[in-house]
Amino acid sequence: MLRRAILFSPALLLIRPAHAQQRPSVTASFSILADMTRQIGGERIALRAIAGPDQDAHGFQPKPSDAAALTNAAVVIRNGLGFEGWLDRMIRSSGFKGALVTATDGITPRMMQAHHHGHDHGGAGRRHNHSVGPRQVPDPHGWQDLGLAQHYIRNITGGLVAADPAGEALYRRNAEAYAARLAALDQWVRAEIAKVPAARRKIVTSHDAFGYFGEAYGVRFLAPQGVSTEAEPSAAEVGRLIRQIKAENITALFMENMTNPATLQRIAQETGLRVRGRLYADALSAETGPAPTYEAMFRHNLSLMVPAMRGDAP
Ligand code: ZN
Repeated sequence: MLRRAILFSPALLLIRPAHAQQRPSVTASFSILADMTRQIGGERIALRAIAGPDQDAHGFQPKPSDAAALTNAAVVIRNGLGFEGWLDRMIRSSGFKGALVTATDGITPRMMQAHHHGHDHGGAGRRHNHSVGPRQVPDPHGWQDLGLAQHYIRNITGGLVAADPAGEALYRRNAEAYAARLAALDQWVRAEIAKVPAARRKIVTSHDAFGYFGEAYGVRFLAPQGVSTEAEPSAAEVGRLIRQIKAENITALFMENMTNPATLQRIAQETGLRVRGRLYADALSAETGPAPTYEAMFRHNLSLMVPAMRGDAP
């Protein structure tokens, strides 16, 4: 009798739909930001990522349904530093009226040469720019330094709290626990890198997504596309990199999950090195893959990087 009375209580019927309406709709530009946001917002938010697992967010082509996800979002979270030119264009045309959070706010960016990947990092117009010589632009890949991730957490949390003040205590509690996990992971990364002799801390990857990682953890990254201001590196540039790999006895050669492997395969062939697997740079893996979360991405990348740099048998 008592149970029935509660089930049909008009007061409860009123509470349920009101509760559902409070769940803020949050859209993150790409998979890594979406995972960070999920760790902080949990089940309290309705979360959507635009560029999903294994998708290259640099040259992303949004679909009409992605624009619809923006129109209805209470919060949109972007990386910033010129990473998602396509998102800024979508926001302008979608009639989005929510809060725009830039996860890298407060970070002092490293600078890099424009067109480093052969992707359009900076939005419409850049490819038609007639200036001569390499132009310096901010490096957007700040998430590759776990120390800088603390800025991401602070900015994302601030955005969720502003959109949903009633959830503040939960968001702050989750953010604090997440920040502590990432600080511990940062220490673990340093301990792993310390297992590699200093002179061997060098890695070749397809594009230069690891500048912040290299600066934070003392690893030198070389990328065939990183030295080029064109879409594809020239034969001379690839040849130079091959000579450097041989001269410095570099053994850590990697592909990335979202870039074209052709140049890396050629380097492997000409150096006699084996490609030591796939690093996750700008996108997570699917749920069943080795890097379905930001934290798992670091554990996976380090598990490949350390033996490869040491030259351990594959
Ligand atoms: Zn990138």
